[in-house]
Amino acid sequence: MNNYITIIGGGLAGSEAAYQIAKAGIKVKLYEMKPKKFSPAHSNNNLAEIVCSNSFKSNLHTNACGLLKEELRILDSLLIKIADQTAVPAGQALAVDREIFAQNVTNQIKNMPNIEIINEEIGENIHLKDLAQNGIVIIATGPLTSDALSKEIQELTGNTDLHFYDAAAPIVSKESIDMNIAFWGDRYDQERAKDEEIENWKNRIKQMKQANYINLPMNKEEYEKFWNELVHAEVVELHNFEKREIFEGCMPIEVMAKRGIDTLRFGPLKPVGFTDPRTGFRPYAVVQLRQDNTEGTIYNLVGFQTNLKFGEQKRVFSQIPGLQNADFQKYGVMHRNTYINSTKLLDNTYNFKKNNNIFFAGQITGVEGYVESISSGMVASLNAINRFKGVNEKATFSELTMIGALAKYISTENEKFQPMNANFGILPPLDEKIRDKKLRYEKLADRAIAKFPKNIDK
Ligand SMILES: Cc1cc2nc3c(=O)[nH]c(=O)nc-3n(C[C@H](O)[C@H](O)[C@H](O)COP(=O)(O)OP(=O)(O)OC[C@H]3O[C@@H](n4cnc5c(N)ncnc54)[C@H](O)[C@@H]3O)c2cc1C
Repeated sequence: MNNYITIIGGGLAGSEAAYQIAKAGIKVKLYEMKPKKFSPAHSNNNLAEIVCSNSFKSNLHTNACGLLKEELRILDSLLIKIADQTAVPAGQALAVDREIFAQNVTNQIKNMPNIEIINEEIGENIHLKDLAQNGIVIIATGPLTSDALSKEIQELTGNTDLHFYDAAAPIVSKESIDMNIAFWGDRYDQERAKDEEIENWKNRIKQMKQANYINLPMNKEEYEKFWNELVHAEVVELHNFEKREIFEGCMPIEVMAKRGIDTLRFGPLKPVGFTDPRTGFRPYAVVQLRQDNTEGTIYNLVGFQTNLKFGEQKRVFSQIPGLQNADFQKYGVMHRNTYINSTKLLDNTYNFKKNNNIFFAGQITGVEGYVESISSGMVASLNAINRFKGVNEKATFSELTMIGALAKYISTENEKFQPMNANFGILPPLDEKIRDKKLRYEKLADRAIAKFPKNIDK
């Protein structure tokens, strides 16, 4: 067994992992392909480069990403500490001076005697299987993992378990869906029920509640208004390297809508097989929502992968009857994103089930976002440390915490797995029902923080 731990990728997750491992007194070999080779989005020589927005999102306790940062501060995250030190004014958000942030992380990592940085691309002359043969490896090469390494990861995980782009539909919390408008039901089920002459209304309701989908019916006027807003809504400007990946895959809903006013009604919004229980007739169009986590607290809008700007998603999709007060836990995205099917491949310590010497960390595991990537680097490294030291106990976090809930989400079986950011919908609900959202989030956040011991050894 090697007397060090290997980390591949010196981005957000890899840098956090390197720090935690070195701090525990263990040697680290950190492979980073820059500056020899750059991904299409990276451009400077430092570790922990921030490729897009300079915001680490909200700092508020009542915001899911704010809570995650608070948890990471308790756990002595180097990257959140440096983000705090390099913050620029941004209201309630934690935004950083990206140059100073990356420079400070790089200086700190370079000055740790236990860390050796090797500027090589894994997959070219040095191969993953050789690194994993005699030691512990953390793969943290991010959403733009180089092609050579992607191939080696594909060999490791199996062809169908590595995805190259992310076409995710928005997700809303179930409690924010107006169930006076929505109805439960799977396509054709109501018709089947009629055929089978289930006349008893109570039985029918019961049967419909066992259905998998929540359906939002629209009449002609509502549909046409929605369609008109959708085709005129503002979209995100794509990077050149993302265009090919996206359009070969599934089509954004706004692009499909632009093909004609009825295209969606023959596609994802087709109403066949449904009867609106309020009218007794087939609706003009139906938006379907599918359960997105095991607890059934969050639902995704089926077929709504989109490039609309986030604000536009909220504005336009809230016009769908039943979603007028929808609480968007995650907005739809379509971009280049290399990620593995963690729900099958990893446990909740980000450990690869087929080979316990391998961990994955960062966006490649299906967590989404800067802070989320740092959080998975934290969990993976704490567990790599335990494995290195021969400690059998796993370093896991309660599912009531955001860091634990994310780890649980990516490692829980889910056929429609899509990358996930921190959001309150992935936490188990409170025992009491609290209508006021801010108060509810405050209680959820307090409950999470209470799960951490008071005096963590830093
Ligand atoms: C274009 C784009 C924009 C994004 N914008 C945002 C945003 O605004 N806000 C947000 O929260 N999240 C954003 N994300 C998502 C994500 O949070 C970031 O990509 C984040 O940097 C992921 O952290 P990571 O550590 O997993 O990967 P990265 O930070 O990308 O680090 C991976 C590192 O691995 C290196 N590497 C890759 N292949 C190899 C190899 N074969 N050998 C050695 N080294 C290798 C890379 O050079 C890189 O330094 C964006 C993603 C993309 C692609």
